[in-house]
Amino acid sequence: MTSDLSFACDCGAVSGTLLGVGPDAGDHVTCHCTDCQDLTHHLGHADRVLDEHGGSSLYQSRCATLRIASGRDQLACVHLTEKPTLRWYAKCCGMPLFNTYANGKLPYITTQLSACDPASRAELVGPSRGHLFTQDGVGDTSHLPKMSMAGLMRRFFPRMIKDLLSGDRRRCALFDAKTLEPIVTPHRLTSEERQALRRS
Ligand SMILES: [Zn+2]
Ligand SMILES: [Zn+2]
Repeated sequence: MTSDLSFACDCGAVSGTLLGVGPDAGDHVTCHCTDCQDLTHHLGHADRVLDEHGGSSLYQSRCATLRIASGRDQLACVHLTEKPTLRWYAKCCGMPLFNTYANGKLPYITTQLSACDPASRAELVGPSRGHLFTQDGVGDTSHLPKMSMAGLMRRFFPRMIKDLLSGDRRRCALFDAKTLEPIVTPHRLTSEERQALRRS
């Protein structure tokens, strides 16, 4: 069973839908990494996004399932480190929305569940498959069921193959169909900016 899941930023300017969401159509995971936590604090949405252990609820799914209905011009993206992860947020209100690879060559989209419809998200994505980077979490995280990045990659791999073979890789709303570059120019934090972000 899958169904569409709507999302919106805090102020509502950016809105859209993830198509065909179901517990087996993607992976609901909880990430406790310092990058997720730092950016969320910096953007001012820690209360809404992070759980009591600093975890963000995320849903990773195929790249062509994203439809942006409004506020495309409010999308911004940033690299926090030298790593390829690209973090997308709504610049109107600072709400974090998606994580992707640096370009569309490695197709996936990870959506912030806190931005998704509270009435239907829990049922549609199912329970969290596990917690990533629990060593970076807040407080005692020893009781949380763990998931490794390698474990998530193994689950991602079959979806990636489908996106490559079907041509869906070129149908992601966040990347140019031809060049596979992001639709807005990413900002990459300098190490000074990164330090300031950690302290904020
Ligand atoms: Zn993270
Ligand atoms: Zn907004």
